[in-house]
Amino acid sequence: MTDRTRLSPRFLGDPTGDPALLVDIEGEPSSILIDCGDLKNASTTTLRRISIILLSHHHIDHTIGFDTYLRNVLHADQTVQIYGPPGTIETIGNRLLGYTWNLSTQLKLVFEVHDMEKDFCHQQRFRLSNRFQPEAAPQVIESPHPSTLPINPSLPYKIQWTSLDHSGLSSIAYRIDETPFINIDPDRLQAHGFRTGPWLKQVVQAIRNGHGSSHPIDNGQEQHSLGKLCDQFVQITPGRSLVYITDCGWTSENIQKIRALAHQADLFFCEHYFANSEVDRASHFGHLTASQAGQLARECGVTELFGFHHSPRYRGMENELLIEGQKAKESEDPPPCDEQLVAPEDPR
Ligand SMILES: [Zn+2]
Ligand SMILES: [Zn+2]
Repeated sequence: MTDRTRLSPRFLGDPTGDPALLVDIEGEPSSILIDCGDLKNASTTTLRRISIILLSHHHIDHTIGFDTYLRNVLHADQTVQIYGPPGTIETIGNRLLGYTWNLSTQLKLVFEVHDMEKDFCHQQRFRLSNRFQPEAAPQVIESPHPSTLPINPSLPYKIQWTSLDHSGLSSIAYRIDETPFINIDPDRLQAHGFRTGPWLKQVVQAIRNGHGSSHPIDNGQEQHSLGKLCDQFVQITPGRSLVYITDCGWTSENIQKIRALAHQADLFFCEHYFANSEVDRASHFGHLTASQAGQLARECGVTELFGFHHSPRYRGMENELLIEGQKAKESEDPPPCDEQLVAPEDPR
């Protein structure tokens, strides 16, 4: 039996503040960063392992750390993929061109920045060796499936996304799914009279490629159907999934999209920007309350809810917001009024 511990997320800064969620994939040399908020305490080693950056949107609290990131990876010989809503190419391009690079043209860092549309991305490449001048016109990159990022298919995960409304702005929510673990049971293999060999790789690859049960597999002696072989000695364990949702309003369209994206996710990271007592303020600014996040977690059937990204109005009261979210996840009822959390008018 394979354990299910490969996705390993942690916030690089204060989770209550400007978000930057690092997702390590155990066994993989590179990691994913979701949003570029508070990175000031992240180590160079950690930042250099990041190969994919997913941006929800371009508000300052989600992008302020990009320059810290850039400073730390400047000398790395790597290509970093950045994905975000339309306008990401322009936003990142402007940031890169905000500095003078005449002494850095021997460096090898490359950014491939993507504006995500429904079925495709526009991609613009920025090479440090070319002083981060954008290369020609953006290229169109097709997605393998609608709302799925066109990342390297050999990576052991896929990334889906949906665009949520954040007071008229697009805020992207992400879901990372580990590819299922496919194990060959040696005892059952032997019990059915098969020998180990390279043909087993074909079995695994055929499953990964989504071939049907009638797909033929040749073991060097005769052909077998994939479905029969799976029944005889293959064990498939689903991978874990992680969903990241931030900066979106409680609208029927957003709720529908979140339900579809986050269905039965294992790890559900969701903003707790306001307490439910300030539901009108949350609606005005296009944010979720802790109770709404908890309600979404319950409706989506997720395993674990992680609240993050609180309004600075709740400084010192962050724990109460988390409790409100967990209560809403466990309960069918909205929190009673006398238990609602009220923030001071402006503690800043
Ligand atoms: Zn925002
Ligand atoms: Zn925000």
